[in-house]
Amino acid sequence: MKKKNEKHTNHALFVRKNDTVLILSGENGGKQGKVLKVYPKQNRLIVEGINFVKRHTKPTQKNPKGGIVEKEGPVNASNVMVVCGKCGQPTRIGTKIMNDGERIRMCKKCGEMIEAA
Ligand SMILES: [Zn+2]
Repeated sequence: MKKKNEKHTNHALFVRKNDTVLILSGENGGKQGKVLKVYPKQNRLIVEGINFVKRHTKPTQKNPKGGIVEKEGPVNASNVMVVCGKCGQPTRIGTKIMNDGERIRMCKKCGEMIEAA
């Protein structure tokens, strides 16, 4: 049987949407938040309540005056640690490839599988 060319998964991030992550450094260092969005190619993610940046907006019907809104800005994935839902500790992530090729994430602290909520 011929194997299909598999896409390279170099850009697969260890962080996934709905994970809880701990911010390691910067002005948000020590805070935790839920991952709202992941940009694997940029190695960046949006974390709820973290790294607010001010954005100028043009007037819209909803907000006729326009102005400045604060919105979460992306943080670098290398600046966060995933918090394990099982043991509650910020942890490094190990991966395990299952027989069917599925990639499972494991908590290096407690050894449990980590699933995105
Ligand atoms: Zn754990």
